[in-house]
Amino acid sequence: MNGSNVIDLSRRYVRFYATHIECDFCGELSRGRIYDSMQAVVCGSCGGVWWTFEHSDEWHEETWDG
Ligand SMILES: [Zn+2]
Repeated sequence: MNGSNVIDLSRRYVRFYATHIECDFCGELSRGRIYDSMQAVVCGSCGGVWWTFEHSDEWHEETWDG
C-alpha cells in the first residue's frame, strides 16, 4: 500500500463551487478543489475525489482565478 491515490492537500488548487457542498465521503462541507496536475474535483476536508473531468480541449483555466 503506497497510497498512490492519496492527494496532497498542501498543493495549489482552485475552488470549484461558490458555495459549500456536503462531501459524500466525510460529510464535511467543502467548496471542492481542483489541483494543478489533476482533472478532478476533490473534497477540501478529506481529499476524496468527487468526480473527474474527461480529457477535453474545451477546458479553460482562465475562468478559475480565485
Ligand atoms: Zn470529504
